[in-house]
Amino acid sequence: MLKINNLFKYYNTNKSNEIKAVDGVTLELEGKGLVVLLGKSGCGKSTLLNVLGGLDVFNSGEVTIDDKTFSKYNAKELDELRNRKIGYVFQNYNLIPDITVSENLKISLDLAGIVDNQKERIEYALDLVGLAKYQNRYPQNLSGGQQQRVGIARAIVKNPEILIADEPTGNLDDTNTVAVMRILKGLSKHCLVIMVTHEENLADYYADRIIRLADGKVVSDEINESNATLDHRSKDVIYLGDLERNDVTLGGLNMEFFGEHNAKANIKIVSYDNKLYIKIDTDKVVNIVDEDSSIKLTEEKYTVKEKNEDEAELDLDKLTATERKKTHAIDYKRTCKNVLNDFLATRGQRRKNRFRTMFLCSLIFVLLVAANAGSLVYNEFAYKPHDSNVICINAKESDVAKMGLDGRVVNKGVNVSVTISAGASPFESQASLGNASNVGVLPASIFGIALDEGEVKVDKLLYDRGIKNTSLSDVGIVLPEQLIGMRLDIDNKIYGSVYYYPEGNEEDYYNKPTAYTETVVTDEPLYLTIVGLENRNEPLVYVSDADYERLYTLENYVYKDANTFFYANNPRKTIKELEDKGIKATSYATYVKKIFYKTSIATHVISLLVIVLLLVVQLIGVYKLTKSRFIAAQKKFAIMRTIGVPKNQLVLNAFFESLYIFSLSSFRGWLFSSVVVIAADNMSVINTLENLIGTQIIYYPVWLALASLAVMAVFSVLVALLTPLTYLTRTPAKLISNYDV
Ligand code: ADP
Ligand code: MG
Repeated sequence: MLKINNLFKYYNTNKSNEIKAVDGVTLELEGKGLVVLLGKSGCGKSTLLNVLGGLDVFNSGEVTIDDKTFSKYNAKELDELRNRKIGYVFQNYNLIPDITVSENLKISLDLAGIVDNQKERIEYALDLVGLAKYQNRYPQNLSGGQQQRVGIARAIVKNPEILIADEPTGNLDDTNTVAVMRILKGLSKHCLVIMVTHEENLADYYADRIIRLADGKVVSDEINESNATLDHRSKDVIYLGDLERNDVTLGGLNMEFFGEHNAKANIKIVSYDNKLYIKIDTDKVVNIVDEDSSIKLTEEKYTVKEKNEDEAELDLDKLTATERKKTHAIDYKRTCKNVLNDFLATRGQRRKNRFRTMFLCSLIFVLLVAANAGSLVYNEFAYKPHDSNVICINAKESDVAKMGLDGRVVNKGVNVSVTISAGASPFESQASLGNASNVGVLPASIFGIALDEGEVKVDKLLYDRGIKNTSLSDVGIVLPEQLIGMRLDIDNKIYGSVYYYPEGNEEDYYNKPTAYTETVVTDEPLYLTIVGLENRNEPLVYVSDADYERLYTLENYVYKDANTFFYANNPRKTIKELEDKGIKATSYATYVKKIFYKTSIATHVISLLVIVLLLVVQLIGVYKLTKSRFIAAQKKFAIMRTIGVPKNQLVLNAFFESLYIFSLSSFRGWLFSSVVVIAADNMSVINTLENLIGTQIIYYPVWLALASLAVMAVFSVLVALLTPLTYLTRTPAKLISNYDV
């Protein structure tokens, strides 16, 4: 049952060109029979039909489909009702072009949830419309009349309660019009058929009820009691009874000649050697009529059809649905196959090239990530701060000294580089254990370790690192014990400028023009002997108090960033204490991390921008590729939506499509470069090079590989869904209206 109550639908609401397409219509359509909505073009027939059929929004009023009343368009609920109850037939047939006739019908069954005996049902429905032989044809290989009959078969295969047809004969010639109307009329014995037309004669002859519309209003609504006849002479039937007849029987020749008055034909017929030769001497077109030709000869005279004479006998019992199951109507595999075709295409270069672009961008993206991440990703291991007790106080050392804090000032920000000399000079080779950013030098006394001047202990962590990056094994050290007795040099060079204050007063630097900066000259390195290893798992070397003092005697080495490093016996308590005084203090770990990001991001701005750019180019590629694919399949999309394919299935389809596109483009680039990067990372050449230049060339752990893949995939899929998601906000009626003629 379909009902609408005081329904209004406007186009261009509240604009100067507002159109009241449906203007307060109340209708009740029930039971069976053929209801015809009749009216001039533009009077609102299609609009009304679309709202009735749950295909479009409306401004006010109510639509009731089968006991369910809607006061506003609800795509999800309406789709479900539509799929079970309503079949649609369109003026433009709207068959899905890239699948066969029977696959077109299958979608309808899937949507209705009818999964049993699909094959038999499809064959039967096609048989009802006289197209049993055309199951495996593609729609474009059928004539308009045949396509429309497939359209009807698609609607009736699910045995709908209501069939909605908007000008189903609008594109058909007289013969096909009658053929389609015969079927619709036959169908109306089993269900409610609501048809829109502007052809009065069709309405008069076939309709059970005629509803006339004008300017969006119902102007009459009557049972059709006219005894109209139908004068539809088919061009495919030749009525021999209407022609003059002359028979010729001469010897073995037996010939019937039919023609209009005084028709002539000069024909020579030769029977020779068991073959028949016909020579025709005429300027007329010659047609052979045999079993396959569309022209039919009938001995009858043409007569107009009397009322109720022309309707097909349809038995729809076999199409009754016994059980319903939820299934997906979209063949997702086919979607992927179509993507593959674009990817492999020899034609459609543009799409193919997009795949290539995305592949290359993703490839370079990964290479850049791997090449930059080492210095961009904060690595707790490599940058493990010297000691968890060390805190960084935002105050001058002299002030910190006066605060009476529990602990001692330990570091004045001197750059150190720690090297080990193995072997005897002058042939000694050197191995670096690190520099100020990843190795700390602390007085051993803090940890209760007794050391004499000139002695040093090394944390085992430094040994492990040296083994890992092969700098130790390269100089022949393979056991931690080998370190003992070796010479360790601590180089306390300072590179760069240091502010020098003539009066020792910072203010003077800014006020007096005599202030100047100076590069500090190198001090002698400390030469120490390794006497043992410590197992604190901190990146530290431990020196005697005396050596520590020597390292940090030069006042000028102090960085004037007003940060003082302090070894606190109870760091948390000290930080709190300082905070209470309004002095900023952080753990050394936080300080190092902050400095790291500040400097590494600043020095990698260009790389970062290129990485982002590569991602963006990929995303533009995905967007353009999916959009162009979408536009090519837009009509299909609109048809699917109109015949009831739910939004979520279409979104899911777009999702699979984008994933597959991703796997053929960006994913391949990722895979390719990941393999290359991982292989290179394990090559000793690269490791040697890394030690030589002192930085990591490749940093590409599993998490980073997966993260870069995830970032590309997530963004790609989101971008790919943009087009279909915006498109899906439109109603089916709006989508399909683009394809109306
Ligand atoms: P019919 O099917 O009877 O020819 P329609 O229902 O298609 O008429 O259209 C009714 C009126 O609404 C017409 O004036 C038409 O121009 C207008 N109209 C139809 N669709 C739209 C639309 N999408 N946007 C604006 N106006 C529309
Ligand atoms: Mg219309």
